[in-house]
Amino acid sequence: MKLIELFKINVEVMLEADNPGLTQTTINEYQAAIDALEKQEAKKPIKIYPFHYSNLFNYICPNCGEMLEVPGCYPKCCEDCGQKIDWVDAREEIRGGAKWNV
Ligand SMILES: [Zn+2]
Repeated sequence: MKLIELFKINVEVMLEADNPGLTQTTINEYQAAIDALEKQEAKKPIKIYPFHYSNLFNYICPNCGEMLEVPGCYPKCCEDCGQKIDWVDAREEIRGGAKWNV
């Protein structure tokens, strides 16, 4: 089991226990920790076609939706939210001659 999954289960058990000492601030802090751990797990970028009349494309962050691509450079993380990005498939596609929107 991955660390994030174990942590989520522990937090769920803690919340269900209806602990009177558990404040909303603490719950928010746990949620922030879960969000941070989830961003460490690389996700594939989402391909978008900004111009419906062409086959040119860009990539956006799968977490926040901000534009990711910098031609010739593949950022390891989204600059806006810190989501780790898995570029393996996208790189293959671009190497294969797909048309990049630049
Ligand atoms: Zn992002």
